[in-house]
Amino acid sequence: MTARKHYPDKSLALIRKEQHVSIPCGIPYTFGIIGSPMKNLIPVDEMLANNRMDSLVDEVLEIDRAGHTVSTLSGEKYQYGKLIIATGSNPVIPPLPGRERKNIFAIKKDIPYIQEIIDKLVEAKDLCIVGCGFIGVEIAEECRRRRPDMNISIVEMLRHCLQLVYDKEFSLTAEKVLREQNINLLLDERVEAFLGEGAVEKVVLNSGAEVKADMVIMGLGAEANSGLARAAGLEIGPTKGVQVNRYMQTSDSDIFACGDCAEKVSFFDGQPSSLKLASISTMEARMAGANLFSLRRVNDGVIGVFSTILGGNVFAAAGLTLSQAEALGYSVIVGEAESINRHPGTMPGGANLKVRLLFEAGRYVLIGGQVTGATSGGELINVISACINQRMTADDVVTFQTGTHPALTASPVAYQLVNAAENAIGASRATGV
Ligand SMILES: Cc1cc2nc3c(=O)[nH]c(=O)nc-3n(C[C@H](O)[C@H](O)[C@H](O)COP(=O)(O)OP(=O)(O)OC[C@H]3O[C@@H](n4cnc5c(N)ncnc54)[C@H](O)[C@@H]3O)c2cc1C
Repeated sequence: MTARKHYPDKSLALIRKEQHVSIPCGIPYTFGIIGSPMKNLIPVDEMLANNRMDSLVDEVLEIDRAGHTVSTLSGEKYQYGKLIIATGSNPVIPPLPGRERKNIFAIKKDIPYIQEIIDKLVEAKDLCIVGCGFIGVEIAEECRRRRPDMNISIVEMLRHCLQLVYDKEFSLTAEKVLREQNINLLLDERVEAFLGEGAVEKVVLNSGAEVKADMVIMGLGAEANSGLARAAGLEIGPTKGVQVNRYMQTSDSDIFACGDCAEKVSFFDGQPSSLKLASISTMEARMAGANLFSLRRVNDGVIGVFSTILGGNVFAAAGLTLSQAEALGYSVIVGEAESINRHPGTMPGGANLKVRLLFEAGRYVLIGGQVTGATSGGELINVISACINQRMTADDVVTFQTGTHPALTASPVAYQLVNAAENAIGASRATGV
């Protein structure tokens, strides 16, 4: 779509494997509130046709860089001037003993497979989810919505749920919300093996405990699908993504890569990052598409913006957590503020919204933020990401003009984002950091 906007005279085609394309971020909700994978589709053909692009359902098997062609499963060969590889990612499935047992699933972006998971979900008694990151917690809540009677546990090797994204206090709040829904959290535990006669019956943990399970869903992240690029001799990066430069060009300047299949670096230190998010993929796609015939956009690296909703509360984060920042050697000052997101508080629809901001001490540059509570937090985190992206200081955050309205936001004097920044400055003065 971006390439079409920037290069209206070029002919453009998109080749994809599947007829129907899922919205990946919607998959957990097909288990519950959406109800079916066929109600969770991207209208690809319509979007492409409206933008004068060819849409081909086929699988690319080979890229011939010298001949500038791609060959497909159906035996076709297509000529390209410029090529974009956006082959995405596959779920991580660790080589655990017993993983081939029946009824052990990972989250593949594949509609018949998702339907298979749902078919099992409606009859299973004991569900064990492996991984308490975003995918794991969203699946747990949606499975609980569909099956109020089912036993659901989540096994997580880290100490806290969502620990890679939140500071401890926010993780503890998320754990409370999950426990209130009768979801059993087995934290600081690692899965060692799956047992059962043919189908899974038990999950064995490193503590020796065994979890009864006639269904397992793994939510352990994703790995770049870079085999096609590798086979074409393109350089592969340290996290196994297709290596790209800051313009999203691969080691062949006529081939670009973007999205989950592409190698990434952190916005904060330029080091390889394995973050894989739709927000990053679409940002990179807008760069690759614009840069095809003229280098117009530059990728400064990934910030990492996450959001979800658990028990009606938003949990959202952008940038570094406190432990990540400290591990990178930052001296950090933290400011927090919370208040109801209406004024006066008697205004209908009000909910509490808490904001936590992390600044680098001394320079007061914003490096991270977390938001929990009201659903408006799902948009506020994008404002925080923009502030991080612009390397705004605490004073910049306090003094930029934020619009407020009684029925929509906190009052201008209680505005959480501004007050969290002001409180960080106050905390810094008080402690002398
Ligand atoms: C359950 C789940 C929930 C998520 N929730 C969120 C969220 O809330 N927010 C967020 O930011 N991110 C979320 N993500 C991550 C997000 O979905 C991914 O970052 C995003 O889908 C990556 O987009 P992509 O286009 O790079 O890759 P993909 O979505 O993986 O798409 C790649 C496409 O290429 C096709 N393909 C691969 N090889 C070939 C070939 N040889 N020939 C033709 N076609 C090929 C594939 O079939 C696929 O259609 C979630 C992921 C999952 C799995």
